[in-house]
Amino acid sequence: MKVIMLGAPGAGKGTQAKRIASEYGIPHISTGDIFRANIKENTPLGMEAKSYMDKGQLVPDELTVRILLDRVAKDDCKNGYVLDGYPRTIPQAEVLDEAVAKFNEKIDYAINVDVPDENIINRMSGRRACVKCGATYHVKYMPPVKENVCDACGSELIIRDDDKPETVKNRLSVYHEQTAPLIEYYRNKGILKEVDGTKDIDVVFEDIKNILK
Ligand code: ADP
Ligand code: ADP
Ligand code: ZN
Repeated sequence: MKVIMLGAPGAGKGTQAKRIASEYGIPHISTGDIFRANIKENTPLGMEAKSYMDKGQLVPDELTVRILLDRVAKDDCKNGYVLDGYPRTIPQAEVLDEAVAKFNEKIDYAINVDVPDENIINRMSGRRACVKCGATYHVKYMPPVKENVCDACGSELIIRDDDKPETVKNRLSVYHEQTAPLIEYYRNKGILKEVDGTKDIDVVFEDIKNILK
């Protein structure tokens, strides 16, 4: 099964993608996580990506597409995957479609996690991320057992550089300009599914499971 998560920054794509991945035994692929891992390791790719991410802009398609195609070609993707944060532009979606078509395959579902802009800034200011394993929490809606400590690995939780309110505003306008058109793109392909992302995390996941079954 191949699933794409669509939605504004902070809509809950990552939170739900992780649950889908563990429920259905497929890898969770987040281009944002791949970029952040590269930034941490100070790779040339990481340095280049960071210059865009810090401003709330998209990393150029050319670079992003290459990373994604490498990742989905790996063995663990044989039975499918859930993509979180890719595609973010129409050209990225077209490249993905071509890549899966080459193997006579298709994307099964594009799930749009719908959350209005008003809720987003609030969500993002409470987001905390593990420095080590990338687990995500929310101070109010998904708090770790011990404040600022990752439940999964015990490392410290931080606020992402690009979750500052000024950067979030940029990311939202980039989302509306460049990414939201993908909703129509997948609707036209007949695979768009919509969920109300303002509901509780568990309720959103139930709605998604009902779509995927
Ligand atoms: P995205 O991957 O779309 O940017 P995340 O999954 O990282 O979004 O979620 C953004 C923040 O909102 C995180 O702190 C997360 O814990 C929290 N969150 C996710 N889903 C919900 C929800 N349904 N209700 C409240 N908070 C949520
Ligand atoms: P969020 O979960 O809040 O939506 P991500 O972790 O998916 O954020 O992405 C963080 C940043 O990484 C984006 O703002 C963008 O700069 C970059 N990025 C991630 N995925 C892509 C992509 N598919 N195309 C271009 N840039 C991307
Ligand atoms: Zn951790």
